[in-house]
Amino acid sequence: MTEYDYDLFVIGGGSGGVRAGRVAASLGKRVAVAEEYRFGGTCVIRGCVPKKLFVYASQYNEHFEDAAGYGWAVGESSFDWNKLTAAKDKEIGRLEGLYRKGLENNGAEIIASRAELMGPHTIRIINTGRTVTAEKIIIATGGTPNPHASLPGHEFCISSNEAFDLPELPRSILIAGGGYIAVEFANIFHGLGVETTLIYRGKEILSRFDQDMRQGLHTAMIEKGIRIILTDVIEEVTKAVAGGLSVKTMSGETLAADTVMLALGRDPNTLGLGLEAAGVQLDQRGAIVVDKYSRTNVPNIFALGDVTNRVQLTPVAIHEAMCFIETEYKNNPTAPDHDLIATAVFSQPEVGTVGLSEEEAAKRYPELEIYRSEFRPMKATLSGRSEKMIMKLVVDTASRKVVGTHILGQDAGEMAQLMGISLKAGVTKDDFDRTMAIHPTASEELVTMYSPSYRLKNGDRVRD
Ligand code: NDP
Repeated sequence: MTEYDYDLFVIGGGSGGVRAGRVAASLGKRVAVAEEYRFGGTCVIRGCVPKKLFVYASQYNEHFEDAAGYGWAVGESSFDWNKLTAAKDKEIGRLEGLYRKGLENNGAEIIASRAELMGPHTIRIINTGRTVTAEKIIIATGGTPNPHASLPGHEFCISSNEAFDLPELPRSILIAGGGYIAVEFANIFHGLGVETTLIYRGKEILSRFDQDMRQGLHTAMIEKGIRIILTDVIEEVTKAVAGGLSVKTMSGETLAADTVMLALGRDPNTLGLGLEAAGVQLDQRGAIVVDKYSRTNVPNIFALGDVTNRVQLTPVAIHEAMCFIETEYKNNPTAPDHDLIATAVFSQPEVGTVGLSEEEAAKRYPELEIYRSEFRPMKATLSGRSEKMIMKLVVDTASRKVVGTHILGQDAGEMAQLMGISLKAGVTKDDFDRTMAIHPTASEELVTMYSPSYRLKNGDRVRD
């Protein structure tokens, strides 16, 4: 028996914390997981899961329109926001139950309270005032939306947290930001019939993605009727006399909207956790600094997921948790692998990507071959929809390795997941060429682009 109350104490019941706690408990460790809000974390409660449900909901309008080209006459349709949010709440309740059950069934103790550190091995349970000790501690408290507190009127704005539970659907919304959340919610709200405007400070949305994906999605969103304002930011938000909000932008424009949503990144959730008392080091953005094994500067305290601000994605937090288990409880030091992470933006159309954008690859490789195809997917022929798909392979000429794959179009996320396996395995363009196509699919395009669309030498396009 150790001198501590627990072998492992986890603060934060999200994807990373629950995984680490559940697996550690299944190995016979004495584990407690403290969560102040709801189990499941951002992803389950107010992130990936409800977002994807809302994406599905927002696509029906187009499905109804497309049906006509296929011979269907669809009757009058209507949408009920409260029905959607109630159904979403039920599903989230079910998932939260599964998270709790997973912990309980493996013998972990659930503590429904905020927990704060008092020292390297000591934790205070806020609801009861009880103080407990643990041999190892994991901080997995995730992140929170950047409130943009310097913006006059930011208190009138919502973040993604509130967007899931608005009492009623606004007639119009202005969304600030050009990243995952801004782009996904712009498409969701537009699909649900809300007049939608997106305002972004940069020259093109989705700054960390391949230029073709950025431009292709931008074009598709505008064609749907979403207004996109670039190189501008909100300067002030005030309540309008006639109701709703009035927004002044840096370029001097005045915009009116029922709701203003800020999607300007997420900050690590480290305030008031007692990290100073335990001596845990933070970086300038307030993220917990960890080594390659997710260990903080205090040897028995670890941190996983968004609170470390490495890569803010659920599967990454889960992977980091599994690496912690291998390293600490299976005597198999395993560092999380953050290379070649496939990712998707659930915009409409979706963006699915793995590896380097053309622009990033051009900085790393002297010679590249770019294979690019833009086409109308088969489904859009009879429906008459103008939507285009874009597929792109970035190939290092010297090694023939595919260093980036980018897909814009329906189910791009599903395709990117599978492409992730190939790229991880070090696939070459010749492997793509040797792969038989499945006809008729959209993804067959990925294995039938035989000649480069263009080549790059030291970052510049060259003619053959
Ligand atoms: P992102 O980092 O994706 O985007 C933040 C956006 O806000 C960027 O466009 C950024 O501009 C802009 N921005 C930041 N600060 C300011 C400022 N002061 N003024 C104006 N604009 C600003 O963050 P999100 O909030 O969209 O999402 C948070 C994270 O959650 C993502 O990074 C992602 O990892 C994760 N996520 C993943 C999803 C998925 O996997 N599908 C879905 C949703 C979230 P710039 O680009 O110029 O820096």
